Amino acid sequence: MVDSGPIRVADRSVARIVIVGGGAAGVLMSAALARRAESGRPIDIRMIERESCCGPGLAYGKADPGHVLNNTANRMSAYQDDPDHLLRWCASRGVAADRGSFLPRPTYGRYLSSVLGSAGATPDATLLRIRGEAVQIREAAERTSVELSCGWSVPGEVVVLALGNPPPHPQPTRDAVYSGQRYVADPWASGALDVVGADDHVLLLGTGLTMVDVALSLAARYPGVRMVAATRHAEQLMPGPFKDRVYRPQGWLSPVLLAGGRMLGTWRQEPKGRRLRVTIEPFVKLRAGVRREAEDEAHRLATWTGADLDLAWADDRSP
Ligand SMILES: Cc1cc2nc3c(=O)[nH]c(=O)nc-3n(C[C@H](O)[C@H](O)[C@H](O)COP(=O)(O)OP(=O)(O)OC[C@H]3O[C@@H](n4cnc5c(N)ncnc54)[C@H](O)[C@@H]3O)c2cc1C
Repeated sequence: MVDSGPIRVADRSVARIVIVGGGAAGVLMSAALARRAESGRPIDIRMIERESCCGPGLAYGKADPGHVLNNTANRMSAYQDDPDHLLRWCASRGVAADRGSFLPRPTYGRYLSSVLGSAGATPDATLLRIRGEAVQIREAAERTSVELSCGWSVPGEVVVLALGNPPPHPQPTRDAVYSGQRYVADPWASGALDVVGADDHVLLLGTGLTMVDVALSLAARYPGVRMVAATRHAEQLMPGPFKDRVYRPQGWLSPVLLAGGRMLGTWRQEPKGRRLRVTIEPFVKLRAGVRREAEDEAHRLATWTGADLDLAWADDRSP
């Protein structure tokens, strides 16, 4: 978001600023600079971007329409002093949105491109977009320049690096699985998910936002596709202190009560004559709906085994 912090450039009649990277950070920087341009002291911005389009960057340029922003429209304006700017842009383009909407990320990418266009159309600010890969910065006493892979040199007084995040690191292990054709190292690389077929079982390593994006993309492509997401962080799977109740010595695993993708308790069942004793030990206070569903499941199980259910809740929650 553009705020009102100071941006100082050399005191010259024209400030020439080179921004490397035309994603959200580069766009917002351009918009902030353009606002500071004054007659008698114009600003000349040169934006270097290796992709064909400036504005969306990775987060908003490679997203599917089903990928939404992680914040509401009233908090995603490009201008801190004008929180409704994004909403007005939506209204002017017929995009349905209110302050609480989570907009599709591709829509936000178009918004950023439009913000960049406005920055270039500001009186006393000029914006030149250069398509190319920056490979080096050269600094001399009075002059700095950014060298491109094609051999061009783009001079300026100030260089802003708005390069975004680098692609994921290669796995530190030589395990063959990570060099096979079925391993996708960077899900954002162009066509990366094309290796997945409709009948494949997909293992997603990690359970963060990128996993959610990939899961949504694959589910849209192949409804019913089977996916399992693995995480190193047991907290996401169960409340931490209860780990030992599930992962027991010598590799024993307790059956668990699974709700909303989390292990919320252990589940024990013992046939006793014509009765089936089911004991559920919750790790946390369960919502009434979860308790009801667990009880329904116990009843289904008893019916299926032809036994009378004897259900016990062990609500002691100390680990
Ligand atoms: C999948 C994903 C979803 C996200 N969703 C949200 C969200 O909903 N809300 C939110 O606030 N934030 C979100 N973020 C965080 C997001 O990273 C930032 O909000 C913002 O988009 C980062 O912008 P950036 O300009 O730093 O990086 P980028 O958007 O990656 O832009 C960097 C640009 O620099 C270019 N570049 C890099 N190196 C060179 C070079 N040597 N020469 C020329 N060009 C170069 C790249 O091509 C790229 O276009 C998300 C991030 C990701 C990865």
